[in-house]
Amino acid sequence: MSFDTLGLSAELLRAVADQGYSEPTPVQSKAIPVILQGRDILAGAQTGTGKTAGFTLPLLQCLSTRPQQHPGRRPVRALILTPTRELAAQVAESVNTYGRHLPLTSTVIFGGVKINPQIQKLRRGVDILVATPGRLLDHVSQKTLDLSAVEILVLDEADRMLDMGFLPDIRRILALLPQQRQNLLFSATYSDDIRRLADKLLDAPVQIEVARRNTPAELVSQVIHPVDRERKRELLSFMVGAENWRQVLVFTRTKHGANRLSGQLEKDGISSAAIHGNKSQGARTRALADFKRGEVRVLVATDIAARGLDIDQLPHVVNYELPNVAEDYVHRIGRTGRAGNEGQAVSLVCVDEHQLLGGIERLLKRDLPKVVIPGYEPDPSIRAEPILRRSNVRAGAKSKPRNGSGQQQGRRSGGNGGASAGSRSGGSAGHGQPKGAPGANRSRTFSGKPRRRPAA
Ligand code: AMP
Repeated sequence: MSFDTLGLSAELLRAVADQGYSEPTPVQSKAIPVILQGRDILAGAQTGTGKTAGFTLPLLQCLSTRPQQHPGRRPVRALILTPTRELAAQVAESVNTYGRHLPLTSTVIFGGVKINPQIQKLRRGVDILVATPGRLLDHVSQKTLDLSAVEILVLDEADRMLDMGFLPDIRRILALLPQQRQNLLFSATYSDDIRRLADKLLDAPVQIEVARRNTPAELVSQVIHPVDRERKRELLSFMVGAENWRQVLVFTRTKHGANRLSGQLEKDGISSAAIHGNKSQGARTRALADFKRGEVRVLVATDIAARGLDIDQLPHVVNYELPNVAEDYVHRIGRTGRAGNEGQAVSLVCVDEHQLLGGIERLLKRDLPKVVIPGYEPDPSIRAEPILRRSNVRAGAKSKPRNGSGQQQGRRSGGNGGASAGSRSGGSAGHGQPKGAPGANRSRTFSGKPRRRPAA
């Protein structure tokens, strides 16, 4: 199938060709003709399927061919809502890219940055507005935004918007839109809440499914590496080095965990940055740009910050900690194996997370392969600890062993574990700890105390 058969205009086909896309992805070939007919859609498509072009291309075409209803005042005609700032920025970039040969204007508004430049852009008039719900409502309350002429509404990653508690904001926004409009709802997963929202919002929608519901992209290979909780960082450093991974997205459960891990990786000589909600927008944008350019090798992210990140051909995703919500696993690994490229999703799973893993496997309706990495065999005497308690551990705080297994840990680190990790990380894989660097040759004991590791 080629893009030519979808009914897109010459300007849009040119923009697609500029991108080097030779054929539409499944979501594009299904969604584009239906959207061009003016129908509402409910699309089950996760990030990585090409869904952004799937709604942006026909949206641009609809706006450029329909007569302007309000000549002279240039109100917002299409509103695209996304859950996160990063996704908003990426969708806005796509709107620019695909709309480059059309005379339509667009802008993006999200929080964490100054509002005045956004107000000025809105004043000049935009046809297509990409926004996160919170900042959109700020503009509404400042009366700097008129949504009364919106013809097309897109809810992108609607499931995540609901997870993030945006439902009240979405309701307020819907009340500001004209009754008569086209609605496009995209969601990677369907919960009852999504179904209810779809029932309320959509008018006789065409339903589009491109991957089986709640199943990750087929091109992603998934593996579980069982490992002790205190040895995950060593194992991660080892894998990055030994496998020579150049671009890895790593997920932690908490912002603090993301910061701490990123710092530890840096100490291991692996360039790393953390991206999460407590970082300023500037810091998040910079970290993402450095990662995309290959200057940062490991980007450590929380679920919310990583949502919707569009990084071409991301080869590796690591679940450093399993998510509390099984569906987040699907979202996380959707960052790899994108648009036809193969990807690898690795999960480092300790004894505390067996229940979470069970939940994920039930959701996927299959067991994931478990591979123990030699030298990182889990210590069977270590007992599970509650996850919530651990997520509250603060920087530098000492976690007390519940089972008095400090001795066990000492045996491990002094013997097989520490020595193998040390020798590997200092090996030829290219990421070794710089000799004499602070923190080199050190690891943490189970009780959180730094200890000497035997020289490799
Ligand atoms: P999305 O699911 O919209 O985040 O898109 C995932 C990635 O696929 C983006 O990097 C797009 O640039 C890319 N992409 C979108 N459509 C196509 C296509 N038809 N052929 C190849 N790559 C595409």
